[in-house]
Amino acid sequence: MDFNLLSSELFVQGALGLGSVIGAEVVRDVYHLAGHYWQPLQEFHNLHHKAYRRDLTMTSREAYQKAQWYNDIPESLAMVTIMAVAAGLLQPYGVSVWLGCLYSVGFLIPAVARSQGLLLQTDLTHKPGDLIEIPSEWSVNRTYHWRHHFDQGNAYFCSTIPLVDKILGTSLSLKGKVVGVTGASGALGQALIEELSLQGAKVVAISTNQNIQVEPGVEVLAWQLGVETDLKARLASMDILILNHGVNVYGDRTPAAIQKSYEVNTFSTLKLAELFLETVKKSSHKAIKELWVNTSEAEVNPAFSPLYELSKRTLGDLITLRRLDAPCIIRKLVLGPFKSQLNPFGVMTARWVAWAIVALAKRDFRDVIVTINPLTYIAFLLKEFSQSLYFRLCTKKI
Ligand SMILES: [Zn+2]
Ligand SMILES: [Zn+2]
Repeated sequence: MDFNLLSSELFVQGALGLGSVIGAEVVRDVYHLAGHYWQPLQEFHNLHHKAYRRDLTMTSREAYQKAQWYNDIPESLAMVTIMAVAAGLLQPYGVSVWLGCLYSVGFLIPAVARSQGLLLQTDLTHKPGDLIEIPSEWSVNRTYHWRHHFDQGNAYFCSTIPLVDKILGTSLSLKGKVVGVTGASGALGQALIEELSLQGAKVVAISTNQNIQVEPGVEVLAWQLGVETDLKARLASMDILILNHGVNVYGDRTPAAIQKSYEVNTFSTLKLAELFLETVKKSSHKAIKELWVNTSEAEVNPAFSPLYELSKRTLGDLITLRRLDAPCIIRKLVLGPFKSQLNPFGVMTARWVAWAIVALAKRDFRDVIVTINPLTYIAFLLKEFSQSLYFRLCTKKI
């Protein structure tokens, strides 16, 4: 047989097989969504939520078995049935279309065994004990799923592949979260406060500006450069900290300008970042707490302000280094020029940028890139990947 023909056939069958497995996972997640929003299934799905305590131990063996019978078995039956129908329709394209159905049977059998008390081992996302890892980005680990049970039931719906959450924007729930924002009196700070409040977050505006104006309901927290440690107790009560303050000295190249750029853009940000990371203590903190750092597009592109670039790049590099041992999720905000006091020539509006940041974070982008420059997307991702690898290879794990 022609080798090329054989390899292309193998590729097609592999793609169909993989597609059918992803299809089965999508069916599972849609069934889960129905369990939250479609009344006939709500009562049965509730049994799943009632079966676990906060440390993911079973509330009782009976509750666990009942949840398997009324939630997990019907869920895997739905997967098997829908994937069998899909495979029947796609049969002419090859046998690999049945892989998704077979994969679903692999969940139906243990669910039946668990419902009968024949298998007491839970699946990987429901293993009991403290949370060890931070939520994973491309798969659903225990910490990811824990948030569905104990952070926000109407988010984090996915079970294995976080595709449906990324599409729906349910990979992060901001509802009820206490979110601190530095640089709160600036254009982006104000826009972020508005957007986060719309998402149901309780926002704390952190600013060195004594005359900051905020909407009713937004708390103001004053701080001063150099005495970041004063904020430690308050940072402990925050779920998400967004480090967004910065200074732009433009063409100034005096020693004082160098000092100021690094003090504000690099070291005060880093100090606050470390103080916040120190507050990640409890098991639940690993799941809920997040640090977002506005490192700017200047990490990879010229900002026509050398000291702004230098200080922001150093910050960006240090965050890349720190992310290797992140005790919680750390997102970088890589933003293109938007209109603000720092940049009156910005193309995008701060309000739009704030909306885009939140929309991407809700889809679990760890590098939140918002810019009109297409080169940034390639340059930043290449830089982040290669630098992260270099740092990983040449430094020791904490
Ligand atoms: Zn669960
Ligand atoms: Zn649920």
